Amino acid sequence: MTDVRVECVKGNIAAQPDIDAVVNAANAELLPGGGVAGAIHSAAGPGLAEECRALAPIRPGQAVISSAHNLPNRHVIHCLGPVYGVDEPADRLLADCYRNALLLADRSGLESVAFPAISTGVFGYPLDEAASVAMRAVAEALSSLGSVRLIRFVLFSDQDLVEFREALAHEPGLSGQ
Ligand code: ADP
Repeated sequence: MTDVRVECVKGNIAAQPDIDAVVNAANAELLPGGGVAGAIHSAAGPGLAEECRALAPIRPGQAVISSAHNLPNRHVIHCLGPVYGVDEPADRLLADCYRNALLLADRSGLESVAFPAISTGVFGYPLDEAASVAMRAVAEALSSLGSVRLIRFVLFSDQDLVEFREALAHEPGLSGQ
């Protein structure tokens, strides 16, 4: 599918009201924590953690879907990224997160998905490498997508935004979007 738009913006993953599903950079137990998980759970309210209890634990690379509770979206897709230097092979596990999240969104008939930079916070994945892995995984998943039409990366800082935009521009199959 070539009519999927991929974009990078600076912002807060918990404040993307025009998106069907936001992706949580989750922990294995799907509990509220810091960073992305903290922002998503505090905006969603305690019902999200309650629903997540039945879905946990998840493995690195896995993705599961829940409702969005008080978030302005339809769903949250929870991904467990690899801890850099611990969960190996890190690049394959990180790519699995993006692919599995996109396939889950697509199977649920969703049109738009927003990702944070999974694993690049407390899990320590170097941002430039993570950006390349993310863009390659998205490029490889495009041909499998039927309903997803918009993939947004939401970056927390100007520097992170620059890195992801560069990776997008350099990924064959995604550049020129
Ligand atoms: P992980 O445990 O997978 O490393 P983190 O939540 O610690 O996940 O961080 C992942 C990335 O998301 C980091 O680059 C961090 O700066 C960024 N981040 C933290 N909070 C938010 C937020 N509210 N919206 C978007 N990105 C965020």
